[in-house]
Amino acid sequence: MIEQKTKIGTIDITPTWESLIPVLVPLAAEGNVTAMNELRKLARIVDTHIANLKALRDEAPKAPVCPDCGVRGAHAFGCPLGVTTDG
Ligand SMILES: [Zn+2]
Repeated sequence: MIEQKTKIGTIDITPTWESLIPVLVPLAAEGNVTAMNELRKLARIVDTHIANLKALRDEAPKAPVCPDCGVRGAHAFGCPLGVTTDG
């Protein structure tokens, strides 16, 4: 008997923001509210990302350096080098 194995999974077909720009920008320029809202959503994501990066940059110098691996800041699950677990 031949056993046929089929791998079942999901395929992510979510378009990238970059691929949507050529579609969204002209629609928004024509007054399409949905397209404008999508561009606003993108802008919020970018603004949040930039704010998070700035916060990380501002906090990093104040965080202690791990004595085992030299990474600045606490390890959420212990040091990957494993000598100490308090990070
Ligand atoms: Zn470490």
